[in-house]
Amino acid sequence: LAAFADAITAEGLAAEVEAATSGCMGPCSRGPMVTIKNRGEADVIYERVTPEMVAPILNRHVRGQTVPSLDARILSHDIPFFAKQEKVVLAGSGDIDPERLESCVAAGGYEALGQVLREMTPSDVCVEILRSGLRGRGGAGYPTGFKWQRVQKATGDRKYVVANGDEGDPGAYMDRTLMESDPHRVLEGMAVAGYAVGADRGYIYVRREYPLAAKRLEKAITQAERAGLLGNRALDSPFNFRIDIRMGAGAFVCGEETALMQSIMGRRGQPVPRPPYPAQQGLWGAPTLINNVETFGNVAMIINRGAEWYAGLGTEKSKGTKIFALAGKTVNTGLIEVPMGITLREIVYDIGGGIQDGRAFKAAQTGGPSGGCIPADNLDTPMDYEALAALGSIMGSGGLIVMDDTSCMPDVARFFMAFCMDESCGKCGPCRGGTVQMHRILTRITEGAATMKDLENLEELCGMVKDTSLCGLGQTAPNPILSTLRFFRDEYEVHIRDHH
Ligand code: SF4
Repeated sequence: LAAFADAITAEGLAAEVEAATSGCMGPCSRGPMVTIKNRGEADVIYERVTPEMVAPILNRHVRGQTVPSLDARILSHDIPFFAKQEKVVLAGSGDIDPERLESCVAAGGYEALGQVLREMTPSDVCVEILRSGLRGRGGAGYPTGFKWQRVQKATGDRKYVVANGDEGDPGAYMDRTLMESDPHRVLEGMAVAGYAVGADRGYIYVRREYPLAAKRLEKAITQAERAGLLGNRALDSPFNFRIDIRMGAGAFVCGEETALMQSIMGRRGQPVPRPPYPAQQGLWGAPTLINNVETFGNVAMIINRGAEWYAGLGTEKSKGTKIFALAGKTVNTGLIEVPMGITLREIVYDIGGGIQDGRAFKAAQTGGPSGGCIPADNLDTPMDYEALAALGSIMGSGGLIVMDDTSCMPDVARFFMAFCMDESCGKCGPCRGGTVQMHRILTRITEGAATMKDLENLEELCGMVKDTSLCGLGQTAPNPILSTLRFFRDEYEVHIRDHH
């Protein structure tokens, strides 16, 4: 961006061409990318752009010269990486300038908020979201419309809307990209929710490790308030809605909704037992709607294009699209948005371009440290909430790590257990002590120092920690072990047998 800006100034082209920033287009392994937008012409995208390419690109697109050497760097929209995707939440990402409100509004930003304020009652909005079939994208998959109705019907002088942007799964960056690339879309979704449930105050909780997301959200809030789109009397209606940002302090457990609310209220970010649920008693005892950032990212499109349109995407029980952070051993890695129900094979081999170096696919981990792995026999599994649960995994928030045949599955389980052990908040014994013990056994197994009795103990511990931990972190921490044991038990046994 700096090289383009410098060249444009140095060559006196400022009257003809402008260098602007955009958010993420998705194919991280092909970045940096540059899109040429020339009025009346189709966009041209260049991949793996270096500063040396700046002059040839300007020569071609501003001066009209022929520069055949650039052809090899053109990224076609017809490649399977793009063609198999369905951009709903990410429709503006990589296209609009996330730091300019005009760019967002020109792409339809805040139309949905205007529509609900002018034409719909709060109950209508909840029903529309319910009819769309949207389910929580943070991982649990609870129907969003039900949640909204519950908060709407709850009584309280004050209500709150919270967007959970404390994305902490290793390898996951869906929410980060959305907040960085199209912050107004998240804010608009929160405002629509605020109108629907009767809240006048919203918080967006962003993890400390996402400073650019926080900066862009802050800028977006200021711009939207100045333009009368948020804040008092939004869009000249009686609706008041203020959004504030709260930064996390690096604790993974603050992605758990009760811990997140404690943190917003200025208390120590540790989970508390439910009930009461946030919809009844959340922030400062008031009814509170908490949804994930990606869930809010779907709202404007549902209002703009209608619940029927949205419900037409995806499968019978899992409607719409899902964003995945495709990472690991595929040729293409990056952020993708696909219709629910697409198979894992299509993601790995079409969008992902297959496994690097021609190696074999071994497994894919969904749901991060709370999830499980999907082995090669199940490559044709549709990616929806039910099919993944049937395999002992979860949709999770969208982390998708692909492993090749060089991966050791007990080692994968050990990696995720180390993560949970570090992130356990220590409030309850089963998780605090159980994760340490499970990690010790897994270490013995991977180092070839374990016995079959260790394996028995490991399985018993998994059940105990799952059943008796206070929050989702502990309850799901054993999942990667249980899942790798289910599909790759022989690898655990080989590690133990080889030693003895
Ligand atoms: Fe804390 Fe773990 Fe207990 Fe959750 S399960 S409250 S993270 S110790």
